[in-house]
Amino acid sequence: MAATVPKTYPETPLTAVPELYRRARAAFSAWGRTAPMDRARHLRSLRLAVVERLDHLARVIAEATGKPRVEALTTELLPVLDTLVYLEKHAPRVLRRRRMPTPIFLFGKASYVEYRPRGVVLVISPWNYPFQLAVVPVVTALAAGNAVILKPSEVTPAVGVAMEQLFQAAGLPDGLVQTAHGDGRLGAALVAGKPDYIFFTGSYRTGTIIQVEAAKHLIPTTLELSGHDAMIVLDDAPLERAVHGALWGGLLNSGQTCVGVERIYVQRGVYQEFTRRLAEAAARLRQGGGDEADLGEMTWARQVEVVKQHVADALSKGARLVHGRPPEEWRGRTVPPVILADVTDEMLVCREETFGPVLTVKPVADEEEAVALANASPYGLSASVWTTDRRRGERVAGLLETGSVVINDVIVTLANPHLPFGGVKRSGLGSYHGEAGLKAFSHEKAVMEDRLGRRREVYWFPYAGKAPLFARLLRAYFGEPRRWPVFFGAFAQLLRRSR
Ligand code: NAD
Repeated sequence: MAATVPKTYPETPLTAVPELYRRARAAFSAWGRTAPMDRARHLRSLRLAVVERLDHLARVIAEATGKPRVEALTTELLPVLDTLVYLEKHAPRVLRRRRMPTPIFLFGKASYVEYRPRGVVLVISPWNYPFQLAVVPVVTALAAGNAVILKPSEVTPAVGVAMEQLFQAAGLPDGLVQTAHGDGRLGAALVAGKPDYIFFTGSYRTGTIIQVEAAKHLIPTTLELSGHDAMIVLDDAPLERAVHGALWGGLLNSGQTCVGVERIYVQRGVYQEFTRRLAEAAARLRQGGGDEADLGEMTWARQVEVVKQHVADALSKGARLVHGRPPEEWRGRTVPPVILADVTDEMLVCREETFGPVLTVKPVADEEEAVALANASPYGLSASVWTTDRRRGERVAGLLETGSVVINDVIVTLANPHLPFGGVKRSGLGSYHGEAGLKAFSHEKAVMEDRLGRRREVYWFPYAGKAPLFARLLRAYFGEPRRWPVFFGAFAQLLRRSR
């Protein structure tokens, strides 16, 4: 598909914000009433539009971010397509009215839950996976019946333009998805425009700013924030697989992955062997442009500076460079992979998200120490455990304070649209993907309907003479053993008093 991406990018003026909301609200008034089945048909058109422009999108994403084209296809386009299929297939079922049980004290009534769209959703997205992390929340919000204003990252504006073109090509109703191009100032102005819901993916720092602003108007949010993920390699781990998993999990997208591996804790018995093999395998990776390279460039100079600072700090405090070169030897945005050993808690690499192609390895005595170190982080996005003992893996996974855990693999929970995705602690609030995602973009409405039409309910006025009857009723029903004759006797008397 020969869509063209301009070399200069549009910037949405702050003064345009009220008009964006006016158009979004107008679009919502019709879209919010459509049946989930009809919305699914539009999502199908969007999926086919993605497939039609696959090469173009992969190229734009790869150029804008510096990531290899394979990664644009596997970690940006594939999850979006899989999510669209999931939504087409499951959203009508997940959002269907649900009959609920009604307790005996409310006999004669029917209860159900409905999922209603929230209204206008503001999606603010980051630069590291600029397509996936924008389109997945947008399409989930649409499936749930909302209108969307998307503000993509200003660091990768070409992807913002490509997404805008994609939404137009899919023939969505006018004003249903609007893309606003600009930096944090525009993001702040959009937050101040009072959307009905904010879905934010980005740093912990910006997430807290947005949460404070949202709280002023009680706007609900989902926050998908920073991570500092641990990988735990136990002494019975499949070592060769763990080595390759660590490299991919840590170096994918040049380490600029929220769920990327940053801290590796290896049980002492296999530590030397694991670290040696890790360095050897890292040396075999190819870096550069073109489709044959494993590593591309980092996305922007500012992030390179953060990584330089973290690595220089670690080396100055006594970390050992197991693989890679010191920051003085890096050129431009091409940052060679770095593996650091002998790391200590005061180093930035052990305390904060580095978000670059840097892995740290540290020996641990046992499972307990590994879990304690992993959980010592203020972040809690994802983690992985490596062992050939399934029960051991599941036990350790259960102890980790994170939104997700992978056993003998990395990152992949994010790629399963059936699983919820979100972080705990500083890594975020709420989750999306799967049923959780559709429900996050809906408000759950409880409805009860009286089916008997009696003149008065037993719990209505008048109260005269009812207190001892209710006390008898509650004791008979909730005590053990349950005493049905007493219960029905009290109930009959209450009914008589409520005619
Ligand atoms: P960022 O917080 O700097 O920016 C994210 C978005 O927020 C951008 O679109 C930016 O323009 C906007 N923004 C900035 N200031 C704003 C304000 N005051 N009000 C409203 N919007 C504002 O994050 P980033 O550097 O683009 O992304 C990298 C970070 O995102 C990393 O910390 C990474 O871990 C995190 N991340 C998290 C997930 C996740 O799912 N949990 C996924 C990817 C990235």
